[in-house]
Amino acid sequence: MLVCPVRDCHLPLVRDNRRVACERGHSFDIARSGYINLLQPQDRRSRKPGDSNAAIAGRRRLHDLGVTAPLLDAISEMIGRSSDDTVLDAGCGDGFYLGTLARRFGFSGHGVDISVPAIEIAAKQYPECSWIVANADRFLPCSDDSFSLVISITARMNPAEFRRVLGKNGQLLIALPAPDDLIELRGRGRDRTARTVDTFLRDFALVKQTRVTTSADLDAAAVRDVLNSVYRPMRAQPVEATRVTFSLDLLLFR
Ligand SMILES: [Zn+2]
Repeated sequence: MLVCPVRDCHLPLVRDNRRVACERGHSFDIARSGYINLLQPQDRRSRKPGDSNAAIAGRRRLHDLGVTAPLLDAISEMIGRSSDDTVLDAGCGDGFYLGTLARRFGFSGHGVDISVPAIEIAAKQYPECSWIVANADRFLPCSDDSFSLVISITARMNPAEFRRVLGKNGQLLIALPAPDDLIELRGRGRDRTARTVDTFLRDFALVKQTRVTTSADLDAAAVRDVLNSVYRPMRAQPVEATRVTFSLDLLLFR
């Protein structure tokens, strides 16, 4: 299912002890914790600030506090999978959503993210899934028609690649920050659903759309974790305990 990420190669990668390699001899080590780093030299400069260790650890603590559980449950209900499914999470971060859903449904889970520290945490926490470091904006290192579902949760989107790796009758779940997401910390955001649906209309048809909203009373440390975990810079303000809204627009395509 994995293919070589080297430009113009894209031959299947075959596992050979502690590495994977293609027929042309491009080879990639399997890390001790089980993930594979397929990042190419030209991908390395596109690291995002949100990928800092502080951001990753902060997001993980928010998941552990349970504040994202209602979001997870809404995604779970929308995708409704079985153990026969093969699922790709493109931009999986620390793997919380994919790893938890894979345990819930028993499907085969595959996560791709550009951040090495995030994938390392994912691989340690959810060793039953497979974890790949790669730049999904450029190319998904997966063969055509590999998956029955692709999920993209507040990540960057690559419609052509999502379409290519999805099999017949495949579905795509997109989660976007809704306008009231973190409204207490950064004010009301834009509604991105219409533009996102437009972006995907060439390759996909919209099946279902819903919004899930939850809020949590966070102490100052948790608020700081939220501030660290979002990419966009925010107004400087004192960090104090407050109620924070978390809200996602969910779009299911086929
Ligand atoms: Zn190759």
